[in-house]
Amino acid sequence: MFHSSYIEISRSALKHNLAFLKAQLKPGTRFSSVIKGNAYGHGIEEFGELAYTCGVDHFSVFSADEAYRLYQVLAQKATILIMGYIDDEQLDWAIAHDIEFYVFSLDRLEAAGIAAQRLQKPARIHLDLETGMNRIGLDTGELEKAAAIILKQPGAFDVVGVSTHFAGAESSQNHDRVTNQLNRYHQAVQTLKQLGLKIKTLHTACSAAAMAYPETHLDMVRVGIMQYGFWPSPEIYQRYMGVSTDRTDPLRRLINWKSHVMSLKAVPAGEFIGYGKSFQADSDMLIAAIPVGYSWGFSRSLSNQGQVLVRAHRAPVVGIVNMNVLMVDVTGIPDVALKDEVVLLGKQGDEHITVASFAELSTQLNYELLTRLPLNIPRKIID
Ligand SMILES: *Cc1c(COP(=O)(O)O)cnc(C)c1O
Repeated sequence: MFHSSYIEISRSALKHNLAFLKAQLKPGTRFSSVIKGNAYGHGIEEFGELAYTCGVDHFSVFSADEAYRLYQVLAQKATILIMGYIDDEQLDWAIAHDIEFYVFSLDRLEAAGIAAQRLQKPARIHLDLETGMNRIGLDTGELEKAAAIILKQPGAFDVVGVSTHFAGAESSQNHDRVTNQLNRYHQAVQTLKQLGLKIKTLHTACSAAAMAYPETHLDMVRVGIMQYGFWPSPEIYQRYMGVSTDRTDPLRRLINWKSHVMSLKAVPAGEFIGYGKSFQADSDMLIAAIPVGYSWGFSRSLSNQGQVLVRAHRAPVVGIVNMNVLMVDVTGIPDVALKDEVVLLGKQGDEHITVASFAELSTQLNYELLTRLPLNIPRKIID
C-alpha cells in the first residue's frame, strides 16, 4: 500500500439516497447530480462513474477543469453542466464536446457566440439570473440585450435552461428572501419568453430548496450534499423528521476514511506527548501513531479534541495534530496491534465518527470538511 490513508465510497448508500431524493420530486423532474468540489470530496471520477451506473445522467460542476475530469470517464454518456467558471480559452472545448455552461454576463454571451460561429456548432447555454443573491447572474436590465445577442445569431445558441441560485434556502430565517428570489425568477423567465426566446429547462433548487420549497422543483433540481448522505442544515433535517412517519434518518453516508496504526509506543506517566506541552500523560499510556495529519485534511484544530476508531473503540487524539502524523490514546483498548485499521470518518463495529461531530469539533461545516479531503487520497468503491 503506497498511501497512508484511503477513502471508501459505498454504492448501496448512494443507491439508497438517490431513491429517497427522487421520491421527493414531482414526477418528471430531472435530477442533476452536483459534483463540484471534487464531488464534495468523494472524487469526481470515482463518484461520477458510480453515480452513472446508479442511473444518474446529468451532472453539474463548478468549472471547466471539473467538467474535463468527468468527461474523461463519462464522455458523452451524460450531460455535463458548468455552473461557474469557464475561461474564453475553454469555450471552444466545451462547445465542441456538447458541454453545457452557465452564462451570467453579456461578455460571456458574446464570447460564446463568437466561439459557436467559429466551430459551426451551437453553444449549449443556461442563462443564469441574478434574483437577489448578488453573486453572479444576469441583471434584469441585461435581459433584453441578452435576448438580442442570441436572436441575431440563429444557430449559434441553444438556450437549454434558465437558472438561479437561492441565498440560503437551508434556513427559514431567509424565507422572505428566497420567496422574493423565486418571484423575480419567474418574472424574468416571462420577460425572456416575451422577448422571443425558447427555453427548455427551468431550474433553481439545491438540496435545501428541493426539501423546503417544493415549488422550486420546476423542470430540474441540482442536488449536491444530500446525495452524499448529509443534510444541508440541522433545520432541514429536523423539518423533514417532523413530518416523516419513520424515526430514522433516510440518508446514508457514502464515505469512510481509513488508515492504520503506524507505530505503537508505551509512554510512562509524566511524559509529554508530541510537540510542545499540550498533553502530559497522567498515567502510563499506550499511544498509537497514525500516518495522517493536517496536510491530509485532518484539521489541526482537532488536536487534543478529535477521536478515531480502533478495534471498534473510540480513541482520543492526544497532543497536536502534525502535518503528516497524529497520535491517539489506545491505552484501554484490548489487543491493539501494528497495522490495525483506523477509521478517521465513518463506521467501525457499532461506533461511528460522523462528519457532523468531526466538523463541530473542528468548527468546519460538513461542506467545507468534505471538500478539503485532498485529491490524492485514493478513493475506492465498495458495496
Ligand atoms: C452547490 C450548488 C448546488 C448544490 O447545493 P447543495 O446544497 O449541495 O445541494 C446547486 N446549485 C448551485 C449553483 C450550486 O453552486
